[in-house]
Amino acid sequence: MKIICIGRNCAEHAKELKNEIPTEPVFFMKPDTALLKEEDFYLPDFTKDLHHEIELVIKISKAGKHIEEQFAHKYYEEIGLGIDFTARDLQTKAKEKGLPWEKAKAFDNSAPIGKFIAKEKLQLENINFELKVNGQSKQIGNSKDLIFSFDKIISYVSKFITLKVGDLIYTGTPEGVGQVHIGDELEGFLEGESFLKLNVK
Ligand code: MG
Repeated sequence: MKIICIGRNCAEHAKELKNEIPTEPVFFMKPDTALLKEEDFYLPDFTKDLHHEIELVIKISKAGKHIEEQFAHKYYEEIGLGIDFTARDLQTKAKEKGLPWEKAKAFDNSAPIGKFIAKEKLQLENINFELKVNGQSKQIGNSKDLIFSFDKIISYVSKFITLKVGDLIYTGTPEGVGQVHIGDELEGFLEGESFLKLNVK
């Protein structure tokens, strides 16, 4: 499986990082070794500024290529919640030099993933999600604020890359990203229900 992440998909988050608001989806990838399920996260020593990015995640349930937007909904059954951990210091350096982001984004355990829920149980255009750090709300998002919808993302990405069953698409983070520290407890909520919990060690 592969992990595809959409960047700059919320206008307010793009602004907080002083990025332009994109006119087409920006995506990058993480390898399967980035996945972290229900385990503690060990802060890597190569970054001094690791950021949390809480994101809604699409789980692909049917293989496809060149998927038209109007049919994209047939390619996923479940939505989940994940964190796109980002070594912001390394990413900033890479961006300055026009270099790839992998060191900042694709390292081991950089993609914690929580529970999934059947999409029929949600209003896809209005999904509330939130990240709390040590019990304090840090990021509040709603799928209505995504610049590019789930279906648009699937259609766009599948022009370039064949989607396969089990692939995950992290759909972009709302504003409020911030640094995580050893000892932090991160908990993600989808429609008020805890979907993801991890301790930073
Ligand atoms: Mg992200």
